[in-house]
Formats: sequence, structure tokens, C-alpha cells
Amino acid sequence: MQDAGLTQTLSFGLTLQTGSSDNLHEGCLEARRVRNEVNRLDKEGWDWNDIHDTVVDNSYHVKNTTQLLVKKALKELETYHDHKDDEWGRPYPYIHETYPLRMNHNEGYALTVDDSGDIQFRISYKPYNYVKGVLRGSPDHLEQVKTALRSDAWRVGVAELVYKHDEWRLHVSVTHKSRTVAPPDNAGTVVGVDINEDCVALAAMNRDTGDVLDSVVIEYPEIKRIRHEFFTKRKRMQKVGQTAFENVVRTEERDFVHDHLHKVSRDVTRWVSQFNDPVLVFEDLKDMRDSLDYGTRMNRRLHSLPFAALRDTVTYKTAWNGVPSDDVNPEYTSQRCPRTECLHTERANRRRKRFKCKSCGFQDHSDRKAAVCVAQEWVADHDVNVPSLKTLPRVWKVRRTASGLCEGADAHGAVFASGVTDIGTSAQDSQSRARAELKPVASTAD
Ligand SMILES: [Zn+2]
Repeated sequence: MQDAGLTQTLSFGLTLQTGSSDNLHEGCLEARRVRNEVNRLDKEGWDWNDIHDTVVDNSYHVKNTTQLLVKKALKELETYHDHKDDEWGRPYPYIHETYPLRMNHNEGYALTVDDSGDIQFRISYKPYNYVKGVLRGSPDHLEQVKTALRSDAWRVGVAELVYKHDEWRLHVSVTHKSRTVAPPDNAGTVVGVDINEDCVALAAMNRDTGDVLDSVVIEYPEIKRIRHEFFTKRKRMQKVGQTAFENVVRTEERDFVHDHLHKVSRDVTRWVSQFNDPVLVFEDLKDMRDSLDYGTRMNRRLHSLPFAALRDTVTYKTAWNGVPSDDVNPEYTSQRCPRTECLHTERANRRRKRFKCKSCGFQDHSDRKAAVCVAQEWVADHDVNVPSLKTLPRVWKVRRTASGLCEGADAHGAVFASGVTDIGTSAQDSQSRARAELKPVASTAD
């Protein structure tokens, strides 16, 4: 799992120059046939080695493309068999939608940089038959894939061709070969992360003393606003049937959100770098799916793009600095009182951005508090006892916007390292800062 931190998946749109969308479709239909065949044979009780060899021999795809497809289908079955007792459903034996085409670099697909600096792709939708064209994407994803193509330190790995929202996308994985990440178990500072639609909250806890050393809430209200704006725009276009424009808008939206999240993750990485031997702790997405009782907050978070995308970017960027990431079960981290002598858990404790314990009266910013609970949860999973929580530092808020202030955060980068993290300059920001100054735990206790 730690290796995964150094592999990043980059997502691109495709501008086709040779071949057609129908060709790509044909490739994905054969991928589906392979996938369904694996499931059919498994259901008939075949040995998995025999399934692998038989299906590979009978597919007309590039051989190692089929091998990747069979492996992926078997992996889905393996996950199912491993979790049968938890009432996981068997994968559908026959899927009707297309299946992603999975390919090795320089085999099923290839990328090259041309003279003008564009990245050309070539996809074998069947042996000796190619669809060719140019990758589209955010500047930093394009730059990263170029670096990976040029440098020996990097490997361009497996890519998946997927058809989503009426558009072809290529997800390319790139891996840095020699970077290593510290083992999470040795961490000295536990940084709880709580990702929301409009902000990410971080709380750094000393593992031995249980003290929260510092915390910050990085707000990104524009992502929510822009996504809503684009959503309305798309709906309007769908109404008048402008599908081509709709795709352009979708790409624009994705690039905006991506760029913005990239900046937020840089802020997070910088903030984390001030602590000794940190581990970043996130709530586990897999566990969330099983927990039906989380209600709308969790559902909204689960389906909101920032959650997964920001998590991936932050994990990757911090891994680059050698910092590991880990998961905890997200159960009740948003509802539980963080005071170790209270721990009262009730949904009513939380009201939007406000947390107020119904039992002991402790109050805090709800997202910062959730980040503290995430850190506590990790310590509880790893150590014999969780040290008691005595005080909490003030909550600092940073607002990350696409214009103006965004540059300000970079210019004031050193501010992060000093632990004083408010970069707001407007009156509105200093107000939100004032509101964020909360009583320490000790003074609200009983
Ligand atoms: Zn309480």
C-alpha cells in the first residue's frame, strides 16, 4: 500500500486524429467480453489459472492487454471472495456497459512527445489497428507525464481507456521508481484530515502526549460555487441539445477544479512539513460505503469530487516528501466529543460548522474537531491508550481562492511553517478569523 503513494494516476481527454470513436468502442466491447467470460467461467467453478490461459488465448486483443483485463476481472472476484462474509455482492456476471481497456505502455498503448511539445497517443484497439491523436489535460498533468516519459527515474505504467459522460478519457499511471515512504507505524505526529465540500481541516497531534500541536482549516468556497455554476450551465446546454459544447464545459470545469485542488494540496503538504515524523490519516472510503447510518453528510462527501481527488493529490504530494498516509474507520468521527473523559457521541452534537457536545458543553469548529477525532482514532488503533486531550489550539482559517489571495498564500508560504496560518487580508477574513477563536477544552469542561 505504501508503494501506491508514489504512483499517480493522471487523467486526460483525447483529441482523435486517426481512427474513430467507434474503434475505441470496439476495443472496450472486447474488453467487456473478456471480463464477462472470466466471470462466467468462475461461476462454473473453473480453476483461475485455467481461466487466465483460456481467456487470453481466445481474445483478439493485444496479448498483454488481455492479460491485464483478465487480472483485473479476477481481482474483482478475489475481493468478492475475501469479503463474502461481510455480505459483499458477487460482481455482476454479465455487465452491459463497456469495460475499460487496460494497457501496458509501449504495448497496448504508447505516448510520445512531438516537436511542438504535444503528447501524442497511440491506442491499439486490436492488434495492428490504431487510434491516434493528442492528449488534452491540465498543464501540470501534461507536464508530469512528459517528465515521466523523459526521465529514467520514472516509469509510465498501465493506462485505462474509459468512456464516461459521453467522452473518452485515458487514465495514465506514472511511478517514481526510487522514492520511499516512512512506515506509518513509526510516526511521531498524527495528522488527522477531514475533507469537506468547502474546506479541509487538519489537526496535528503528538502521539505520546496527545497534545494537538496545531490545526488549520483551509477553505475553498470557490470549488463549490464554480461546480454549481458549471452544473447549471451544462443543464441549460443539455436542454437545447448542445452536447459538443457541454463536453467543452465539462473539461473546463474539471481543469478548474483540478488546478484549484492542486493548490490546496500544496498548502496541505507545506503545513504538514513542519512536524516531526508525521503520518497523514484519512477516513476510509471503503468503510463509509458500508455505513448506511451516516446520513446526508457522509453521502454528500462520498459523492463529492473534492473528497477523493484531494485525498489522492495530498497523499501523492506528501508521499513525495517521504510522509506516509493511512486510514481509519470513519465511524462517528464527526459526532463524537473529542474530550477523552467525555466521548459523548450524538448526531445532534454537530450543527453545520458548529460542534457542541450535548453532554459536557464542549464547543469547537466541527471540521477541525472531526480532524482531531480522526487523529485520536488512529492512535487508538495503534497504541494501548489514547492520551487525554487537555487543550486545543486556536483554529486558524485560510481561504484559498482562484484569484488574488491565491498568490498571497504562496508569497506567505513561510507563514505556514511558523504555525501562524491566517493569510486573510480582507475585513471579511479577519472576521472569520475572530469567529474561529474558540475556548480551549479545559475552560469548557464541566
Ligand atoms: Zn463532551
